[in-house]
Parts: sequence; C-alpha cells; structure tokens
Amino acid sequence: MITHPFTYQAPATIEEAVQQLGKGDDAKVIAGGHSLLPLMKLGLAQPETLIDLRHIASLHQIRTEADGTIVIGALATHRDIAHDKTVRAKLAALADAAGEVGDLQVRARGTIGGSLAHADSAADEPAPTLAYDATIRAMGPAGRRDIAARDYFKGTFETALAANEIIAEIRFPAPAGRTGGAYAKFAHPASGFAVTGVAAVVTIKSDGTVERAAIGVAGVAAAAYRATEAERALTGTKADAKAIVEAAAKAANGITALSDLAASAEYRKHLVTVYAKRAIERAIQRARA
Ligand SMILES: Cc1cc2nc3c(=O)[nH]c(=O)nc-3n(C[C@H](O)[C@H](O)[C@H](O)COP(=O)(O)OP(=O)(O)OC[C@H]3O[C@@H](n4cnc5c(N)ncnc54)[C@H](O)[C@@H]3O)c2cc1C
Repeated sequence: MITHPFTYQAPATIEEAVQQLGKGDDAKVIAGGHSLLPLMKLGLAQPETLIDLRHIASLHQIRTEADGTIVIGALATHRDIAHDKTVRAKLAALADAAGEVGDLQVRARGTIGGSLAHADSAADEPAPTLAYDATIRAMGPAGRRDIAARDYFKGTFETALAANEIIAEIRFPAPAGRTGGAYAKFAHPASGFAVTGVAAVVTIKSDGTVERAAIGVAGVAAAAYRATEAERALTGTKADAKAIVEAAAKAANGITALSDLAASAEYRKHLVTVYAKRAIERAIQRARA
C-alpha cells in the first residue's frame, strides 16, 4: 500500500513531461513502475507528483535510422526488446539481456529507460548498453543532451542524468560487418537480478582475427563497467580457446567488487571470469555464423 498522497499527471509529449518535472515540487517520472512503485510502497520514495510517460507514443518505438543507428525508445519494455527482430539480429547481447530480466510480468512492464535511470548495480541492460557503445539521449529544460554510456553509469542508483532530465531514447550505432554479441548471466536465485552479467560484443576480420572486442559487466561493482583489460587481451587474437580463457581471466582486473549475502567480492570476481568466457564464446560463434 502507498500511504502518502501524490498527484498524477499523464502528459502526451516529452516537452510537456519535462515542463511538469521542472515545476519545483518533488516530482518523479514513472515508466513501468517496477522499481519505483516498490520503493513508494516501502516509503523509500515519496514523490509529490508522478508523471506517467506511457502516453508519449514516440518513446515506445524501436526504429533504425538511415545510417543504421538502432534507436530504442525509453519506454520499450524488456519484452519488446527481447522479441524485436532487428535487435535480435544486430544487438544480440541486448536481446539476450532483456530476455533474462526478472520474469514474464517484469519484462512486460519494465522498460529500458527505467532500468538505465534507476541504475541498480544488479540490472542487466547496462552491460550491453556499455558494450555496444550506446548513447543515452536525454531531454531537459535546455533541450536535448547525449550522454555516452561510458560516461553515464556512476555508481549504484547514480548516473549522469540530471534530476530534471528524462531519457527519451537509447541510440545504438550499427555494429560493423561480422559482429556477434551475447550476454551470459548468473542470476540471483530468488530475485533474478544479476549477481554477474557479462555482455560481449566481438567483431572479426575475414581471416578470423578479432578486430574489436567490447565487454560490459553488470552486477559485480557499484556501477556497470567495461572490462578494458579483457578487451585488449582478446583484440588481435584468433579467438581460440586459449585466447578466450586468457582474456576472460582479466574481466575483473582493477575492479572493487561488491560483497553481500548473494556473493562475496572474491566469488563475484571468479564469476566474472566464468561468465565472460561464456559470453565471449557465444559472441564469437555468432560473429562466425
Ligand atoms: C520482481 C522483480 C524482478 C526484477 N528482476 C530484474 C532483473 O532480473 N534484472 C533487471 O535488470 N531488472 C529487474 N527488475 C527491475 C525491472 O527491470 C524494472 O522494470 C526496471 O529496473 C525499472 O524500469 P521501470 O520501467 O519499471 O521503471 P520505473 O519503476 O517506472 O522507474 C524507475 C526509476 O527510473 C526513473 N525513470 C523511469 N523512466 C525514466 C525515463 N525515461 N527518464 C528518466 N527517469 C526515468 C523513475 O523516476 C524512477 O526513479 C526486477 C523488478 C522486479 C519487481
């Protein structure tokens, strides 16, 4: 039960939503409500105004632009993303991750914009968002602002998004030629959240050499991160079994891992190497297919 009173607004455009958000009272936007409503029920969030984004049609779209950029509206649900043909073909690691969020009900309501704005350290979609070098496009009182995924995740529930900004869309550059992606997750047995989730995106040349490797990791540190040492270790190799194991072994290098009831820091660091190996292997299989 939500015990504190609040007013409810349902704007039809993002400009209207930005204006309502900037009015000064303690307002919050709501998307799928699967993170915000539990917090409100616990009394941990007590917004005076809720601004429901669901009537803003443009925010639900998944589309491809002329230059191949795949644009996912902030209100696309995890289910929309997991089932979208273009996302499955071009951004397989994102489709995998969206398909592994929570359960069917959570995937049917929860949105990618909500997930990135909430920035739970154990959320899945930040990992592929980082690995695909996506851009988070926000709208605020001063207009549009693009934030590179690498600069966006700051800590648990902490991002580069300002309180008066709304995520409009997430923009994924078209992956080059022979690119494969995959997401491998060790899910918390009760909540389903990622104890460790690794997104690997690998591009190979015609001779089989790895041209580019990008590895995003969620669930392990306070903020999702890019495993740059592992990426460097894989790039330029033929991605044989030895190269993959050696690269995966570096996926937690330099990271301060979280420690909680689900997993100690040491165990999380071990899990990263195991799940990085699985994600890289599957990404390479897909790049070669
Ligand atoms: C039982 C359960 C299991 C779950 N399991 C998983 C899991 O395995 N993996 C996983 O990743 N997640 C999981 N989740 C979280 C789920 O994916 C949420 O849907 C997601 O984290 C938030 O999305 P939402 O659309 O529901 O956002 P909301 O709850 O509506 O909003 C969350 C926060 O983001 C803000 N916000 C929302 N949209 C925007 C926007 N466009 N711009 C700016 N701010 C915005 C809100 O103001 C609020 O602060 C689970 C949730 C539940 C209830």
